[in-house]
Amino acid sequence: MGPADLQRYHSLLLKKQHELSSALSEAYSRVPAAGGLQGDMIDQANADADAALQIRLHRTDGRLARAIEEALARIKRGTCGVCEVCRQPISEARLEAVPWTQLCRGCKERSAT
Ligand SMILES: [Zn+2]
Repeated sequence: MGPADLQRYHSLLLKKQHELSSALSEAYSRVPAAGGLQGDMIDQANADADAALQIRLHRTDGRLARAIEEALARIKRGTCGVCEVCRQPISEARLEAVPWTQLCRGCKERSAT
């Protein structure tokens, strides 16, 4: 991976990190405060379900945020774009789609099964 690719990969990660932090603050603002004044029981149930969904989304995004931070750290060390299992270069198409990945497609598929 050349310096130009590294730079592009780096800005992709920063962009994703920014999107994620906006999504996270939005998710937080949508979670109703505990004991907030709600209308009838149905509204309360919907609000609870919505809050649970947002919290679940938040947990997923939290893992993603860490993965992005780790990818940025790998760029600093110059070790990005290499599969951490088989040590083969990860395809550019895959990095473009999932810039924080640590696994090539083959290893990812093996780890998922
Ligand atoms: Zn691999």
